[in-house]
Amino acid sequence: MKCPICEKGKLKKGKIREVMFGVDLGEFPAEVCEECEESFTDIETTKRIEEEAKKRGIWGLEFVNLKEGEEAYIHPDSKGIRINRGI
Ligand SMILES: [Zn+2]
Repeated sequence: MKCPICEKGKLKKGKIREVMFGVDLGEFPAEVCEECEESFTDIETTKRIEEEAKKRGIWGLEFVNLKEGEEAYIHPDSKGIRINRGI
């Protein structure tokens, strides 16, 4: 199977270490591109990653609209999770 991202590399079976918000969720099977090293997980694996993230209480944080590399301070208060950006 060809990589849909770079359209050059082939996808190989491998493993990825899933880290979300600095929390290590463990290793998961994935197809990894030889060229650009983009990784793809199937629906079942994606669900497992979701489960792990939920267990650790970090699921849903990516929906707060933070950009990659953006710094933010996230802390819980009485109203829920509060996010201060650009610190
Ligand atoms: Zn690729």
